[in-house]
Amino acid sequence: MTEPHSPITQERLTALRRLFHRHAEAGMAEFWTTARIAEELEALGLSPVVGETVSLPEARMGMPDDDVLRAAEAQAAEEGAPQAWLARMNGVTGLVADIRPDLPVHTVLRFDIDALNVQESHAPEHRPAREGFASLHEGLCHACGHDGHIAIGLGLARELATVRDRLRHNVRLLFQPGEEGCRGARAMTAAGWLAGARHFIAAHIGMHADNDHALVCGARGFLATTKFDVEFTGRAAHAGAEPQKGANSLLAAASAALNMHALPRHGDGDSRVTVGTLNAGSGRNVIADHALMTCETRGATTAINDYMFEHCRSIIEHTAAMYEQHCRLRLMGGSDSADSDDTLIRVVREAARSVPWFHDELILDTASGYGSDDACVPMAAVQKMGGDAVYLMLGSRLAAGHHAPDFDFNEDVLLPSVQLLKNIVLALDEA
Ligand SMILES: [Zn+2]
Ligand SMILES: [Zn+2]
Repeated sequence: MTEPHSPITQERLTALRRLFHRHAEAGMAEFWTTARIAEELEALGLSPVVGETVSLPEARMGMPDDDVLRAAEAQAAEEGAPQAWLARMNGVTGLVADIRPDLPVHTVLRFDIDALNVQESHAPEHRPAREGFASLHEGLCHACGHDGHIAIGLGLARELATVRDRLRHNVRLLFQPGEEGCRGARAMTAAGWLAGARHFIAAHIGMHADNDHALVCGARGFLATTKFDVEFTGRAAHAGAEPQKGANSLLAAASAALNMHALPRHGDGDSRVTVGTLNAGSGRNVIADHALMTCETRGATTAINDYMFEHCRSIIEHTAAMYEQHCRLRLMGGSDSADSDDTLIRVVREAARSVPWFHDELILDTASGYGSDDACVPMAAVQKMGGDAVYLMLGSRLAAGHHAPDFDFNEDVLLPSVQLLKNIVLALDEA
């Protein structure tokens, strides 16, 4: 363990990134990851908050089944996650760390910590495979760079701990579970961690800043989204002898899927609807008594997304009635739409001036077209309270696109990212 107040180095950030890369964990089941982050922060003299108060239970979405969570927790313990932290987490992942808990909260930063259900490439061209830090877990991989985000968050915590006595306000770091599928942010926001915040900052490696030395100061145009599962339960019957006695779940689901995709679109902006999977039935000669669809809607604004989702809900309920189905709709994730504020875009641009990694000609004030990220939930919450928010894209060349099995980024972006965020936080603290 290094001294708490020695400055963060590129070597340390790379080592941290690779450590978390190896221990890739699924969204809302990041037990090893959370415990290890807590241990690092504690070594800096901070008192991370873990457990039930990190997120509001009724606002958690897309939770894995209990047996999956228990298995993930047991695996984390087997892999050496600090026991004391696992016990304090009490089955809940994610954590919150205040740099100056004695002062009112001012700036909040979000770092997402989950991996993806992606099988990592074993190809020798893939650096994590070649250099021995590929995911230990079959079918799970940090293919979106959140391992880098964790390293940046821990690096920033170390830098801020070094200057904590001169801070005039509290700086709060959220290490958020379940960003993929937009599952974790709403529950952390609902738990009150943004209350009183004046500024909110999130950052992502790569995305549309997929060149070394590039920077998007404040992304815009994130889509609001709702992720939901629909389960139809009907009645099985002999398909030849007495099909009239069945209630066909497969037809109900198919009919709902077609009608959802046929919804009239909203005149105020972009909208999307996707039924991504549909599984139904048990055999060729049996009227299907069960169907499960996984779906999502998106919208350029929260209102447009709500329009799409509410109309899907109506179609699902009416289709269920038409086909005599019992139907259950479960919310699995969701995010608002949000845009970065000009006020903070200016602060980011100014803060980047003293970080040589970011080249002036490759710095954009804004760019758009990123899909969805549930950092928009705390962004919108802070904006609603009169504060401002920004979402940075940290430039790095990529080995492959985000979510691909051979995704990798240039680790040289880690230290400049810490320096940039530190400059931003200190500028806001002094303003
Ligand atoms: Zn992602
Ligand atoms: Zn991501």
